[in-house]
Amino acid sequence: MNIIGHLINGENREDSARLQDIYNPSTGEVSKQVALASKETVEEAIAAAEAAYPEWRNTPPAKRARIMFRFKTLLEENTETIVRLIGEEHGKISHDAAGELQRGIENLEYACYAPELLKGEHSKNVGPAIDSWSEMQPLGVVAGITPFNFPAMVPLWMYPMAIVCGNCFVLKPSERDPSSALFIASLLLEAGLPKGVLNVINGDKEAVDTLLNDTRVQAISFVGSTPIAEYVYTTATKNGKRCQARGGAKNHAIIMPDADMENATEALVGAAFGSSGERCMAISVAVAVGDEAANSLVEGLKGRMKTLKVGAFTDSTNDFGPLITKTHMEKVKAYISGAADEGASIEVDGRNATVDGYENGFYVGGTLIDHAKPGMKCYEEEIFGPVLVIVRVNSMEDAMRLIDDHEYGNGTCIFTRDGEAARYFSDNIKVGMVGINVPLPVPVSYHSFGGWKRSLFGDLHAYGPDAVRFYTKRKTITQRWPSAGVREGAQFAFPS
Ligand code: NAD
Repeated sequence: MNIIGHLINGENREDSARLQDIYNPSTGEVSKQVALASKETVEEAIAAAEAAYPEWRNTPPAKRARIMFRFKTLLEENTETIVRLIGEEHGKISHDAAGELQRGIENLEYACYAPELLKGEHSKNVGPAIDSWSEMQPLGVVAGITPFNFPAMVPLWMYPMAIVCGNCFVLKPSERDPSSALFIASLLLEAGLPKGVLNVINGDKEAVDTLLNDTRVQAISFVGSTPIAEYVYTTATKNGKRCQARGGAKNHAIIMPDADMENATEALVGAAFGSSGERCMAISVAVAVGDEAANSLVEGLKGRMKTLKVGAFTDSTNDFGPLITKTHMEKVKAYISGAADEGASIEVDGRNATVDGYENGFYVGGTLIDHAKPGMKCYEEEIFGPVLVIVRVNSMEDAMRLIDDHEYGNGTCIFTRDGEAARYFSDNIKVGMVGINVPLPVPVSYHSFGGWKRSLFGDLHAYGPDAVRFYTKRKTITQRWPSAGVREGAQFAFPS
């Protein structure tokens, strides 16, 4: 069986003491195995990054960016392979996988701008014959730990910017779908990146804990579920590292009575069920203001959901594919059963979805749950499946209170024709990314991505300008070149 290993110091490595199965979620079959790195293997990757750092740090930013330009071309030329690797291990349909890759490429397009982003600030004559400037220096060896749901894009949120800023990187992708990240990293080496600047290790908690505890690692970027994000953030910062850890989500959409219901329905169907709901920006709660809006929304959704097509990743006419594992499929089904037990009404039930020829795949069909309420598990917890719950409220204030009281604060949106209401909403809601008649307000690569509350531990958001700040530390230099022969006596007052 094909074993997925590691990429250390430019070499493919296998460390097969511990192996874990990788599934093809469309068929339910084990397709490959991944080697889970030992502490020693991770330490080797860190050592390779540390050895590459002195030369890479002193490589001019324009030369670093030039390698990223070549990398972008290689990614575009290899799109088909990457999309297939994502489909085989994640189950994403090709249109969705290609969209994920395109978003990743946009992050490295922004990273190509490094010479401009790293210019720093300069002030002449801050004192007599004294100039001062601030520069952004790299941190050294930095690491990224990424989730299964965007196996190509989320690593590309991290290392292109970290690397063009002069750092060396150790990536630990999700052990559930590691192949696309490994293949993409090999393309960066082909583009001319020196050995050791980017290393990829596959693994589980043992690999993560090694990165968190090794004193050579200066900073950690994490994306995954909230309990692990909190653990990573607490451990990394306790160990003196810089850390940004993004967690889970429960994104609400408010549907106002004046909304264009047809548009809102289409938008919700895509945002709730696209990628089987396995997106941290998926809309999983629709908050309908008033019973009239709620009834019309539920009827519209029920009608539209009849045409949803779930199936194998190989058929690009499918709307969405399977869930990542059998265990996760069972968990999603348990949330739906639990919602019925708690008194919500299941309007469309995806628990018995079957796909001809793929009877063992991990499929759940689009599911709609009405009359959900705070306190119910289907409302409070992140389901991470193709499940949309409807909560009915009487006013926009009630809807906003619901969102503000929820533990997560990743994304949200409002559907309305009222500009004043929309402005009040975006100004006051306690959520990091806000859409107005836009269901998935994922910031473009030259802004930054991040939630509030328990969706983000740390201060700086992912990619965009915040990534430059995260992957550099500021140094301010004050310099004086007195004219020959000019002598100054000692000064005892604080310099001003
Ligand atoms: P996960 O937390 O299970 O895994 C994420 C990473 O942490 C993986 O690399 C995994 O190997 C590692 N990990 C898992 N358990 C660990 C442990 N006990 N100790 C140390 N490391 C451990 O998340 P997932 O299931 O792969 O991804 C889905 C989650 O990610 C969802 O909650 C989703 O909302 C979230 N997510 C958030 C964002 C965001 O930007 N906020 C983006 C994408 C996904």
